Amino acid sequence: MKIKFVNEIPQWIISSDVAAYHPHTKTIWIRNNLGWRTIPTLLHELTHWFIHKFLGNNEKLHNKLDRKI
Ligand SMILES: [Zn+2]
Repeated sequence: MKIKFVNEIPQWIISSDVAAYHPHTKTIWIRNNLGWRTIPTLLHELTHWFIHKFLGNNEKLHNKLDRKI
């Protein structure tokens, strides 16, 4: 798993303009100017990664996670 800090989330990532986990490349993309929000945002995307890797990519868990924020 990789974490990429970038100025802008690439346009082909449509789920968010702040941060996203891209399962195909196992990469978390996150903007580098989020300040303190970097921490909860990174934890959120790490949880997506964890669900993908260890919990069978359970769709319901992904959805639960995304309704929380
Ligand atoms: Zn999410």
